[in-house]
Amino acid sequence: MKCCACGGTALATAGAVRMTRKDGSLIIFTEVPLSQCRQCGEQYLSGHWAERLGELLHRGDELVPQEVVAVPVVTVRGGS
Ligand SMILES: [Zn+2]
Repeated sequence: MKCCACGGTALATAGAVRMTRKDGSLIIFTEVPLSQCRQCGEQYLSGHWAERLGELLHRGDELVPQEVVAVPVVTVRGGS
């Protein structure tokens, strides 16, 4: 398939998908089948998997993570 962002070629692969929960916490799903652009790295999830991850995200409290990593958060203020 073609990348919507840059027009490059997106290839089927498996990768990590980051999703944010309603409370602002981050969940990373790994080894998700998706298409990724070779040029800009844009990821495309199939509808089926987007739905599945949405479901998993919804019952986030029941998920058992393989590992928990600390994520640096940097706020960049605009203006002068
Ligand atoms: Zn692209």
